[in-house]
Amino acid sequence: MKETFRISSKTVSCYFDEAFSQLKNLFSDVKIIYVTDENVFRQHADKFQSEKVIVIKAGETFKQQPTVDNIVERLIALKADRQTLLVGVGGGVVTDITGYAASIYMRGVRFGFVPTTILAMVDAAIGGKNGVDVGIYKNLVGCIRQPEFLLYDYTFLQTLPKEEWINGFAEIIKHAAIKDADLFAALQQNRIEDYTSSGKALDELIQQNVKIKMTVVAEDEFEKCDRKLLNFGHTLGHAIENSYLLPHGSAISVGMVAAAVLSQQVNNLPAEDADALQQLLQQYHLPVYQNVEADKIWQVLLMDKKKLGDDIQFILLDQIGKAKVMSLSTAALKLFFDDYFKSGKAVTA
Ligand code: NAD
Ligand code: ZN
Repeated sequence: MKETFRISSKTVSCYFDEAFSQLKNLFSDVKIIYVTDENVFRQHADKFQSEKVIVIKAGETFKQQPTVDNIVERLIALKADRQTLLVGVGGGVVTDITGYAASIYMRGVRFGFVPTTILAMVDAAIGGKNGVDVGIYKNLVGCIRQPEFLLYDYTFLQTLPKEEWINGFAEIIKHAAIKDADLFAALQQNRIEDYTSSGKALDELIQQNVKIKMTVVAEDEFEKCDRKLLNFGHTLGHAIENSYLLPHGSAISVGMVAAAVLSQQVNNLPAEDADALQQLLQQYHLPVYQNVEADKIWQVLLMDKKKLGDDIQFILLDQIGKAKVMSLSTAALKLFFDDYFKSGKAVTA
């Protein structure tokens, strides 16, 4: 099924539940070069056959400029020109890096994505943020440029490890918590296995989440207002992720629960909504609390990109399905953090 989304002057086509092999027919008039990582390539070699493929090393550690330089060198060797279509096939690391390489090669060639993790399907591949990390600084260098298409071939997910499914569901629950109370209720009725085992349920879920993120991005491509809501759970999440080497989904799960407790205190979020969020995250096997050194987290948080002067912009919930951006003073936030983490009692996992 094809659906198109308009983002500024660009149309992004989404092909849901489509075979990867169809790409050649959809773009029969151009030369396609694929970029993937070694895990995806090894486990889905049959899908690539005799295509031109650039295989990068897997993992966040390789989302760095030298990998982009290698891709550029391979593109030159493969005689890629302005008519070439670059297709990133993989998780968020591959899609972020492919979008970036495509944006700078010959000052920009066409590109599209075949996301192969849940996280990339509902989040990373959508919205046009492309880039790389610089040392420890995540996504420090990059650009915003929309892909031409996203193709969803769910057969890639047959090899996705369970922990990566769980990671992706953290972003799905985030979408529901900030934008869609009905989706939240549907998730409450189900278990992760209901989606891993049913093609139809999964396709529906992915489509709903693509629509949520595309709509937010279409209204605010350059993150001036509503797009900030997608950072729910991420300010604290990123600080924990980097300091305690947690998977991204686990870190933002802990961050969302903390943000919900804070929302109760400063934004009148009903206690039952905060509890419901915590329960739903646990239902999808996500952690809801992490013992951390409050001071260590605080230092990382102060360096967060979202700090503005003396205030920190924080995403808080009004209720399940509705969120807002609130500027909180660093002093007030510090008090909350000290209490929340030092007591270690705010939430019991
Ligand atoms: P990832 O790309 O590292 O994939 C996770 C792991 O799964 C990797 O080891 C990968 O090789 C493997 N894998 C991928 N597909 C597979 C499959 N079908 N079968 C078996 N193994 C498979 O990470 P991710 O979780 O997909 O994405 C995280 C990245 O996305 C981060 O770099 C993050 O910054 C980025 N991101 C970007 C945006 C954005 O707006 N651009 C949004 C969210 C996240
Ligand atoms: Zn995230």
